[in-house]
Amino acid sequence: MNPAIEPDHALAASLFAQLAAQSHDGIGITRDSYGDGESAAHALAAATAERCGLEVRRDAASNLYLTLPGRDRDAPVVMTGSHLDSVPRGGNFDGAAGVVAGLAILAGWRRAGIVPERDMTVMAIRAEESAWFPLSYAGSKAAFGLLDAPALALRRADTGRTLADHMRAAGGDPGAVAAGVPALKAADIDCFVELHIEQGPVLDEAGDVLGVVTGICGSQRYRHAAIRGQYAHSGATPRSHRRDAVVAAAALVTALQRAWVSLEAAGHELTVTVGQCTTEAAQANFSKVSGRVDFSIDMRSRSRATLAAMDAAIQSIRADIMQACRVEIDLGPLTASAAGVMDPALQGMLTAAAAEAGVAARPMPSGAGHDAALFAAQGVPAAMLFVRNAHGSHNPDESMRLDDLALATRVLAGVLGARAGVFHSTATLNSCQSV
Ligand SMILES: [Zn+2]
Repeated sequence: MNPAIEPDHALAASLFAQLAAQSHDGIGITRDSYGDGESAAHALAAATAERCGLEVRRDAASNLYLTLPGRDRDAPVVMTGSHLDSVPRGGNFDGAAGVVAGLAILAGWRRAGIVPERDMTVMAIRAEESAWFPLSYAGSKAAFGLLDAPALALRRADTGRTLADHMRAAGGDPGAVAAGVPALKAADIDCFVELHIEQGPVLDEAGDVLGVVTGICGSQRYRHAAIRGQYAHSGATPRSHRRDAVVAAAALVTALQRAWVSLEAAGHELTVTVGQCTTEAAQANFSKVSGRVDFSIDMRSRSRATLAAMDAAIQSIRADIMQACRVEIDLGPLTASAAGVMDPALQGMLTAAAAEAGVAARPMPSGAGHDAALFAAQGVPAAMLFVRNAHGSHNPDESMRLDDLALATRVLAGVLGARAGVFHSTATLNSCQSV
């Protein structure tokens, strides 16, 4: 890449330091969705962009758009960005890396006096995490006019206040959001390329710095499933008379695992997780046969057919265990999110840009959900670039190296620059790096 258009890596380092300082909660990083933590991060991004001479605007859901204007303001915009919220006591890089990288690129271009052929926008997206409100992608859904009144009535897990209430407090207009007027239309977007830390161990263990995401897994979840048996005296009840919910739960988890293994052996790519499995604290004790177990099942795959095959296995396992253990199994409502198909041309461009920067980017699926899936579902050509990160994610120990981010930011800049038709003008501006 032309050194004149190098991203502002010092700005990236400074932004991460400021984000960490303002959102450290004593244990980890907390940037609560539509709360003070997320709003402070948005304020920092907006102030930085203003100092850099970028256009700053917000939509009715208080998503933030930071734009380097192009020559043709009506041409479809080249977009990058990610979310600025975090899970409670999370890490500093999940989400923020994508916004910081985008700002570093635009700051570098603006300083070099570059005017792209078309607008180039970094979007700081609200409320991607479902840890606060029981839905994913609230900000990007709202931007596309897809956040309806029932979603706005959902309550935040900690405050008990509605999404509408929180949105209003964060400067948004929930009435306008519920009306469904979109701030973004797929036809007006050339592409959305999201840079994000990898949240699993794959890149770090392989010694690879970058990953190009081949697809984002969709999910199917039974969040509120229950097994109902019968409470009974542990000493006085013979095995033949038991309806033991814990024994049924153990058999169920084992059978789910076996079904997962056999689908994998048949070439399917998926994950199956029982993340919650509890007896009733008020009733269960060491001297009782347990009468109830509450549990959850989370299935993820890029393939709808694979999710359907796993769900069919769950239904048959449920019938078998109900009969064998003489219990009732109520799976509760099934919730689902669609898989995100990543644009092959953008994947090719990211891979080529990485090779030009001297690294082989690893093709890999994303098991975690991301806003890019929502863009893809709306028909926007979308792609994701993963950056190596140690110690996993959604915890305070997230560890991305800034030199890895610098490399990833250069690769991202190469692809965005190619899409936006970047070329020089004569203006020269001062660095907008903060002190
Ligand atoms: Zn994230």
